[in-house]
Amino acid sequence: MTALRWGSATDPGLVRRTNQDHLLVADRLFAVADGMGGHAGGEVASEVAVDALRDSFDDHQRPPRSADDLLEAMRRANAAVYERSQTQANLRGMGTTMTAAALVVDEGEERLAIANVGDSRAYVFTQGELTQLTEDHSVAEEMVRQGQLAPDEVDTHPQRHILTRAMGILPDVDVDLWEVLPFAGDRILLCSDGLVREVTDDQIAAVLRRLAEPDQAAQELVARARAGGGSDNISVVVVDVVDDGGRALAASEAVAADGEARPEPVRGDEGNMTAAAPAMFSAAPAVPPPAVAPPARGRRVTPRVVLFVILVLGVLAGAAAITVAYARASYYVTLGAPGSGPPSPLNGPTARPLVIYQGRPGGLLWFHPTLAQRTDVTSDQVLASRLADLEKGKVFSGVAAARGYVSNLREEAVQAGRSAATLPPPGSPRPVPSLAPGTTVTNVARAAR
Ligand code: MN
Repeated sequence: MTALRWGSATDPGLVRRTNQDHLLVADRLFAVADGMGGHAGGEVASEVAVDALRDSFDDHQRPPRSADDLLEAMRRANAAVYERSQTQANLRGMGTTMTAAALVVDEGEERLAIANVGDSRAYVFTQGELTQLTEDHSVAEEMVRQGQLAPDEVDTHPQRHILTRAMGILPDVDVDLWEVLPFAGDRILLCSDGLVREVTDDQIAAVLRRLAEPDQAAQELVARARAGGGSDNISVVVVDVVDDGGRALAASEAVAADGEARPEPVRGDEGNMTAAAPAMFSAAPAVPPPAVAPPARGRRVTPRVVLFVILVLGVLAGAAAITVAYARASYYVTLGAPGSGPPSPLNGPTARPLVIYQGRPGGLLWFHPTLAQRTDVTSDQVLASRLADLEKGKVFSGVAAARGYVSNLREEAVQAGRSAATLPPPGSPRPVPSLAPGTTVTNVARAAR
C-alpha cells in the first residue's frame, strides 16, 4: 500500500485584498484552484470547483477510484462552476484553474493521477530533481509550444497570465491527465501561479531538498513567494510518498527485465540501478515517444517590486541638500497625451500611454520632471479606478518600482478581466503535454475530450 503524508499553505500575498485560491487536502485527493472573474467571482469559482471535486471523488468509494474517475470528477467540477455562473449576473464569466492529484488504482496498481486545467502547476520532485509535469494553459506558454516565443520571453510577455483553458467557462472542458508511479521519497508539488511568479524552479527545488516536513516545506514556499513580492495569491500543497509497498524494487527489476519498455536508458549501466531508482516510462499504447526535454526554462528575472518607498514631504522640506536629491531621485507614473502611445489592437482611440518621469509631479523648485521611460501600457489596459491616481502622478523612489507598478496595474486589470479571454482561439491546435525523460510517468497525457 502506498502511504502519503502532506502539508499545505495558502496566503493572499501582499498585493491582493482577497484570496481567490482554494486548496483541497484529503486522504487521497489534493487540489489547488485559482479563481478568476471580477468581484466575488474568482473566490466562488475556485470554491465551487474544489467542493465539486471532493464530492464526486469519494475517498471511501469501493472499488477504489481510477484515473478516469478523477477525470470525470474534474469535468463535473467544471460543470458545477459553469452552472453556478449562469445563476447570477455578477458571477457570469467566472472560472478557475484546477490542478489535482489523486491516489488511484489502475491496472491493479496504485498510481498518482494528476489532472490539470489552467496555469496552476504540478511538479514531481524525485531524487532531488524538480520536474514540471503540467503545462500552463496560457497564451504565452502556448506561443512557446508553437515556437512563436522564446522560453525566456514568457516572464515578460503581456499575455502570460491570460488563460487559454479554464474550468467553468464552457459546459465541458479538456483536461490534461498524467499518471505517475509513486515511489517512496518522491514529492508532488501543486501550486498556484502566485508561487512561480515569485520563486524560481531552482529555489523551489532547494526548499524541497532542505525541508523534509511537507507542512514546513509548503509554508516556506509561501514565505518565499511573499518575500519575492507576493503579487498574487499563493497556494501550495506538498504530497510526500512515504511508503510505496516495495514498488521501487519491483519496478527496477521489471525495467531490467524489459529493455524494450524503455525509450532510452536512464543510466548507461543497468548494474548501477538501485532499488531506489524509479522506473522509467513503461510504454503505454498510443502514447507518443516521450518527449524531448521540455523547453529550457530560463532563470526568472522577476521584477522585485515591493518596496514603494514613499518619501514624506514634510520631513524633507527643510533640508535643501536633501531636496535636490529628492527632486531627482523620485520617479512617477502618469498618463501621456492621447494617442501618443504605441500602436496596439487593444488601444482605443482615446487611450493614453502610461509614462514614467524622473522628478516630482509638477516639478519641485527649479527641478522639472524629465521623461524617463515610455511604457507599452495604455490607459485602457488598467482599471478605471486607477486613472485618478495616474492623472495626479504616482510617485516611486526608483524607476524599477515605477515599472513594477505599471506592470502590476496591467496584471490587475488582466486578472479582473481575464476570464473574458479564456476561450481558446479558434482552430488553435491542442498542445501535447510532454515530459522530461527520467520522470516516473506511465501514461503521458491521456487528455480527455
Ligand atoms: Mn493566481
